[in-house]
Amino acid sequence: MKRRNFLKSLAGTLTLTSLLGSSRDLPAKGKTEYKWKMVTSWPKNFPGLGVGAENLAGLITNLSNNRIKVKVFGANELVPPLEVFDFVSKGGAELGHSGAYYWKGKSQACQFFSSVPFGMNAQEMNAWLYYGGGIKLWEKLYDKFNLIPRPAGNTGVQMGGWFNKKINSVSDLRGLKMRIPGLGGEVLSRAGGTPVTLAGSEIFTALQTGVIDATEWVGPYNDRAFGLHKAARYYYYPGWHEPGPTIECMINKDQYNSLPDDLKLIIDVACKAVNLDMLSDYTAKNNLALQYLKSENINILKFPNEVLTKLRVLSDEILKEISLTDNITKEVYKSYTDFQSNVKPWTDVSDKSYLNIR
Ligand code: CA
Repeated sequence: MKRRNFLKSLAGTLTLTSLLGSSRDLPAKGKTEYKWKMVTSWPKNFPGLGVGAENLAGLITNLSNNRIKVKVFGANELVPPLEVFDFVSKGGAELGHSGAYYWKGKSQACQFFSSVPFGMNAQEMNAWLYYGGGIKLWEKLYDKFNLIPRPAGNTGVQMGGWFNKKINSVSDLRGLKMRIPGLGGEVLSRAGGTPVTLAGSEIFTALQTGVIDATEWVGPYNDRAFGLHKAARYYYYPGWHEPGPTIECMINKDQYNSLPDDLKLIIDVACKAVNLDMLSDYTAKNNLALQYLKSENINILKFPNEVLTKLRVLSDEILKEISLTDNITKEVYKSYTDFQSNVKPWTDVSDKSYLNIR
């Protein structure tokens, strides 16, 4: 009997484990009480990000045994990618899967909940969000928009981008036309370059035809899928501008509050599971894609220290400036930068020193 119970609990564990891997394939059989929509900023099933949205929807549906049934809509299926926030805020959909830096027009503070230049990596971000007061501040920021935010994915450290000429010094950034959005773009601009905003689908042609000199996108996994290695010769690292962007799930607050506690918990746990799963997916696939790019003789180069030092000084200046734009940004900036300075000595003696000797 004891053995049977043990096997039963083990089976339970295995089922949960397999849910994380292929949640979409498991049939949920219970009665549906809530039919929810999830809008996203990614093309449907886009590698990494779109897959993460599908996994999140599948997990919520299956963990709730179909009591909440979530249907995912890719970018432009219900709303354009950059209207996800307003749409969920107004209740057009109950859930959104996106990146908080897209909403800097609401408040500059939003950017700290995805990634800022020379900011924290995925592990440090999670520490700040879950155990350093980050999520509480994020909830405070989104509250007036009738939204509840949760971390729900991370790409890990991105790559610096694709360049059609070598970057040997800061002067090589002058006049450089580069597709690089957000704060990274502002830093490039201050270094004398020209940041360009282009949708993902336009990047390859713009780079190939010389409309732009360089582009960042994500990392080997996503960049290879776009064929960027066929449009530029030099692939630079590290992604100083996006050192571990958190991907978000936003939940319409009225809808979330209308749920019983067990379903609220299922949503929270599903978001946590996808937060881990996406980072693992990126780490595994980036590794394979990097091997492929090396086999294609792509020049994979580190930015010179002089360039990184200059970009870091400019980034610090810009972050300080935006921290003064409103009270909540001031509060978030202080919490984020305090946490980063406090965690740095630990990261230095643990991960950083270990990885340097491995
Ligand atoms: Ca990027």
